[in-house]
Amino acid sequence: MEPSLFLGGKKMSKKKEIDDRFKKFGTVSFTSVTKVNNFIDCLENGKLMGTRCKDCGIVFFPPRVDCYQCFSSNVEWFEVSGKGELVTYSKLKYAPVGFEEDLPYCIALLDYGDYKIFGRIASNVSEDEIELGMEMKAVVNKLPNGQLNYVFEKA
Ligand SMILES: [Zn+2]
Repeated sequence: MEPSLFLGGKKMSKKKEIDDRFKKFGTVSFTSVTKVNNFIDCLENGKLMGTRCKDCGIVFFPPRVDCYQCFSSNVEWFEVSGKGELVTYSKLKYAPVGFEEDLPYCIALLDYGDYKIFGRIASNVSEDEIELGMEMKAVVNKLPNGQLNYVFEKA
């Protein structure tokens, strides 16, 4: 065994810090390391954010920091605010692994004009209240296990 590794009882090489803030997102976190970790800080402050490419103007939600249209990384953050229009929704009777306890729930698409947001409808909105074309708003939601996501409520 190499003695240099154990000088002073500690490893000599400093471990690289990994920014894994994104693991706080969602009922089940599918990734922990992204280029959009600021998204989580904003969620913690009650803000749902997307990005906009400053070079070509395309808007991204979920946020991206690399534009697929013009390949620029010159993006700015914006807050998803105001109302969106419910374009479509679907009631799930089967769920991906990790979401089984939430069943049944509705996933939906809101149209904000410049962009659309995919997400789920808040559990306090009953299915008979849901109508295509209705106005909804995306709000930050804290899950019982401390994870963060966003849900759609009636506007
Ligand atoms: Zn662009």
